[in-house]
Amino acid sequence: MAAKKSAPFRAGSVAIVGRPNVGKSTLLNRILGEHVAIVTPRPQTTRTRILGVWNGKGAQLALFDTPGLHRAKGALNRRMVEVALSTLKAVDAVLMLVEAGTGPGGRVEVGEATRWAIEEVARSGRPAILGVNKMDRAPRPTLLPVIDAYRGLHAWEEIVPFSALTGENVDALLDALVTHAPEADAPLFPPDVLTDQAERQLAAEYVREQVMLHTREEIPYAAAVEVEAFDESARREGGGLVRIAALISVERDSQKAIVIGKRGAMLKRIGTRARERLEALLGCKVFLALEVKVDERWSERASSLDRLGIR
Ligand code: GDP
Ligand code: MG
Repeated sequence: MAAKKSAPFRAGSVAIVGRPNVGKSTLLNRILGEHVAIVTPRPQTTRTRILGVWNGKGAQLALFDTPGLHRAKGALNRRMVEVALSTLKAVDAVLMLVEAGTGPGGRVEVGEATRWAIEEVARSGRPAILGVNKMDRAPRPTLLPVIDAYRGLHAWEEIVPFSALTGENVDALLDALVTHAPEADAPLFPPDVLTDQAERQLAAEYVREQVMLHTREEIPYAAAVEVEAFDESARREGGGLVRIAALISVERDSQKAIVIGKRGAMLKRIGTRARERLEALLGCKVFLALEVKVDERWSERASSLDRLGIR
C-alpha cells in the first residue's frame, strides 16, 4: 500500500459578509474565542473591517468581519458599505451569512436587499460559501426549505447551517472554509496574531458597545468613541493597572444629556460595564474615565471617519 500523503497546508483569507444583524461579528468571536468584534441586537454595529486569525490543524484562515451590506444613506453608512464591498474583492473566498427561519405559512422569503447582497458576492467572482446562521431558533424541518431557496440563487460551493450563538456546526463551517482555502507554503500570519485590533481600538469599541446597548432610538448610531489616553505604565505581567480615557461624541445636546443621565447615572453604568469587559480582555485592573462631547457633524466629515478608523 502506498504511504498516505499528508494533506497540504492551506491558508486563505475570507470575507464574512451579509445583511446587517445576521451574526457576522458573533461568528468571528465564536471562532476566535475572544470578543474582538462588538455585538449588539442593533444593525450597523460593526463600522470597520476587523481581522481575526484562526489557526487549525494544517490550516490558517484570515477572517475579515465587515459592516453589513445595506442601501446606505449618509457618509458613515456609505463608507461602511464600501468597506464591506472592497473587502469582498480582496479575499480568496467569501462566507456570506443569512438567517435561518421561515416567514408566515412556512414560506421562505429572500428579500430584495439579500438578493442585492448575493449579486455583489457573485460580482466579486470569489468562491462563496453560504452560512445559514441562527439555526438554534429554527426548528429542524424548516432548515431544508431555507437551504433550497438559497441554493438556486448562486453557485455556492457549500451551504452550511450553524449557530454562532451556541457554536453548533461551526466546526463544519470551518471545515468547508479550509477545504476552499488555497494551498500554501506558509501561514499568512505568525501563530500568535489574533486580530489587527489594537487594545486601544478595542477599548473604544467596548465603550461604544455599551453606549449602543444602554441607549435607544437614534443615539446608538449618533455616537462615536475615541480613546484619548491609554496608559499602561502601571501594568505588570498578570496584573497591575491600565488607565484609559475615552471621549464619546454625540450629535446633539439632548443626546449628550441622555448619555450622561441623571447625575451621571447612565454614563456610570456604561463605564462600569465597559470597564468590566476591558478588565477581562486585558487581564488587569482598568481605570476608565469617560467624557461626552457634542460634535454635530462627526459622521458627515471624512476627517473624523478617518480618525475613527472607518476606512
Ligand atoms: P452582525 O451585524 O452581522 O455582525 O450581527 P451581530 O453579530 O452583531 O449579531 C446581531 C444579533 O444577532 C445579536 O443580538 C446576536 O446576539 C444575535 N445572534 C448572532 N448569532 C446568533 C445565533 O446563532 N442565534 C441567535 N439566536 N442569535 C444570534
Ligand atoms: Mg457586526
